[in-house]
Amino acid sequence: MRILVIGRGGREHAIVWSLRKSPKVTALFCAPGNGGIAELAECVPITEFQFAEIAEFVRGNAIDLVVVGPDDPLYEGIVDYLEEHGIRAYGPNRAAAEIEGSKVFMKHLLKKYEVPTAAYEAFEEYEAALAYLHKLGAPIVIKADGLAAGKGVIVAATLEEAEKALKEIMVDKLFGASGNRVVIEEFLQGEEMSLLAFVDGNVVKPMSPSQDHKPVFDGDKGPNTGGMGTYSPVPHIPQEIVQQALDTIVKPTAEAMVKEGRPFRGVLYAGLMLTENGPKTIEFNARFGDPETQVILPRLKTDLLEIILATLEGRLADLEIEWSDEAAVCVILASGGYPGSYPKGLPIEGLDAAGDAIVFHAGTALEGGRLVTSGGRVLGVTALGQGIADAREKAYAAAERITFEGKQNRTDIALKALKAMK
Ligand code: AMP
Repeated sequence: MRILVIGRGGREHAIVWSLRKSPKVTALFCAPGNGGIAELAECVPITEFQFAEIAEFVRGNAIDLVVVGPDDPLYEGIVDYLEEHGIRAYGPNRAAAEIEGSKVFMKHLLKKYEVPTAAYEAFEEYEAALAYLHKLGAPIVIKADGLAAGKGVIVAATLEEAEKALKEIMVDKLFGASGNRVVIEEFLQGEEMSLLAFVDGNVVKPMSPSQDHKPVFDGDKGPNTGGMGTYSPVPHIPQEIVQQALDTIVKPTAEAMVKEGRPFRGVLYAGLMLTENGPKTIEFNARFGDPETQVILPRLKTDLLEIILATLEGRLADLEIEWSDEAAVCVILASGGYPGSYPKGLPIEGLDAAGDAIVFHAGTALEGGRLVTSGGRVLGVTALGQGIADAREKAYAAAERITFEGKQNRTDIALKALKAMK
């Protein structure tokens, strides 16, 4: 099969890497791709939002299947567009992608179907939102309704912080129209876990759980980022809790989407808080998470293309999905200054010395044949091992050998799991 992957991050690199292993894949393209993806697939200079150009490329190159990585084109209706043009595409349609595209939609859905989540109110009026803030007090969480490149969520420790965030979102329009509505919700305490699943309507096939590290600095200090590192599985979280999250959150949500006439097809990602009152939903994403994908797909034993085809052909329920017993740890190497402003175009050295580690590219570019930094999160260094400690050691050993000016990474990825297991 000839396949086109849409996207340009570490997630898409992991998807391409995984699809490359499939014996059924005869040609692999990525639009637009990046410096690392170019080694595994032919990168084509078409961006994620050029739907007509994508359809034209598909027809001109006899592509059999399009796999969409990022959230924005899904929410813009890329799957609907391609299907209308007779092109097979993997990912939710516009109506189903609403679960990520609108936090107000998601919260209302969960409330209606009694799926556990933080208590909340949604607002369109600044004054009313402000009054609610004062009523609830801090700590409190404020979320811009729409997509905001992972930055539209503010966990405010004080009322002043909360007021500032609300003003920035609703009055100053820091995230544009995404801030026309806000969700203000209860602060949840507990450990976070990501539970992704391959979904086709009511059929839910869970992936192995993983944990991300969102804050930029060690000890979960500093502002949130797109993710500074991940590990999978999460050995210190009992299987019963994972099962409870599946039974009370992921499956009922997939079923709710069917009942709402928006059956979900693709990867459904539940961001969960494991509170003392059981797992609660923080967010839903309508696609693979980045950087979770960078530890999940290396552990997937079943052919990813088989899973995608089974989904598109209504056979997902019958497919058994297998996971490796090995653990995976991914350490993100970021540009100095990220998630604030950072320089670009800095040469990257040492990739050849990464050994067995898999290096997924996120913000890299080829400039005159030389690999340079081009984004905030630059590389994801993933290693597999016999258990978390082994994988972690290998990932950090490889991460240290890779250098670029200003490189920053957390040094405590997966440490939580090791401490909890002691
Ligand atoms: P999100 O972009 O929705 O994943 O939110 C980013 C991060 O904010 C999450 O990973 C959590 O760490 C934190 N967060 C979001 N909602 C809550 C909540 N209700 N209580 C505590 N932390 C939250």
